Amino acid sequence: MKPAPFEYRVPDTAEEAVALLAELGDEAKAIAGGQSLVPMLALRLAAFGHLVDLRRLDELRGIEHQGQAVWIGAGTTQAAIERSDAVRTAVPLLARATPLIGHFQIRSRGTLGGSLAHADAAAEYPAVALTLDAGLEALSPRGRRTIPAARFLTGTWSTALAEDELLTGVVFPARNGRCGFAVEEFACRRGDFAIAGAAVAVGLGDDGTIARCAIGLFGLGPTACRAAEAEAALVGSEPAEAEADDIGHLAMSGLDSVPSDLHGSAGYRRRVGAAVVARAWRHAVQEAVHD
Ligand SMILES: Cc1cc2nc3c(=O)[nH]c(=O)nc-3n(C[C@H](O)[C@H](O)[C@H](O)COP(=O)(O)OP(=O)(O)OC[C@H]3O[C@@H](n4cnc5c(N)ncnc54)[C@H](O)[C@@H]3O)c2cc1C
Repeated sequence: MKPAPFEYRVPDTAEEAVALLAELGDEAKAIAGGQSLVPMLALRLAAFGHLVDLRRLDELRGIEHQGQAVWIGAGTTQAAIERSDAVRTAVPLLARATPLIGHFQIRSRGTLGGSLAHADAAAEYPAVALTLDAGLEALSPRGRRTIPAARFLTGTWSTALAEDELLTGVVFPARNGRCGFAVEEFACRRGDFAIAGAAVAVGLGDDGTIARCAIGLFGLGPTACRAAEAEAALVGSEPAEAEADDIGHLAMSGLDSVPSDLHGSAGYRRRVGAAVVARAWRHAVQEAVHD
């Protein structure tokens, strides 16, 4: 199938882009790498009278180390993130999650902002942003604001962004102190969306106990989410005390909307989810202990 006809707009600045989105209302949609939007248009799951292409907006691209954080432009491709030394050293969780996204052809067009704004429940980047407590910078004709990752995802394929609002960049805290990171997922074939996945960030205090712990889950609900109960149970304990399989099961216990579809029942996803959390926890804590 081919998409329904649309007008194609290519603004030169982000201000111009949001003004166009405001003027055209729900008839318009921003397009970045097109790796999610184009299939939806081609299958006629969505139709818009106007597409506003973000490709000329250089201000949406780049990776900058800023003190204790790394800023990444929303229009930065997943491939550029994958190649970045700054991301590898300062935001290792993001670096490790990126090669799990689709295939390299997809990553060479797909963008950080597109993945976050598309908000697929099984996507890696929303879970990484949640796990790292990233700040998502947005621009609209009303000005700029920063949306904490915890408030960004509002449902399947829906976010806190207004219709005329663009993501411009994302601020990820840089790694700090003794810490470890891991992302694990299970998919039927390499490059497919995950049936279930987990991202773990763990930080140790001066006494070697777990001072910080974040467990992000994807593919296990309507949006990526945090396993708050498991995190709370871990903080203050000795890394050796925490039994990985128990953490996996605890992480699943707080979930009440695990999807059931042709890729797997909710029960199957819970079992896979517990296993990927356990595996990610083991790797992250091992890295932290040896840091
Ligand atoms: C075969 C295949 C396999 C894939 N596998 C995976 C996978 O395993 N994991 C995964 O996470 N993803 C996967 N993807 C999706 C891929 O990561 C997309 O790149 C990503 O979801 C969207 O990024 P994009 O830049 O292509 O956005 P687009 O497709 O251009 O846009 C997607 C949505 O985001 C909005 N948008 C884009 N940029 C902005 C912005 N700056 N501000 C506000 N809104 C914006 C658009 O309006 C649209 O609603 C796969 C895609 C394909 C085709």
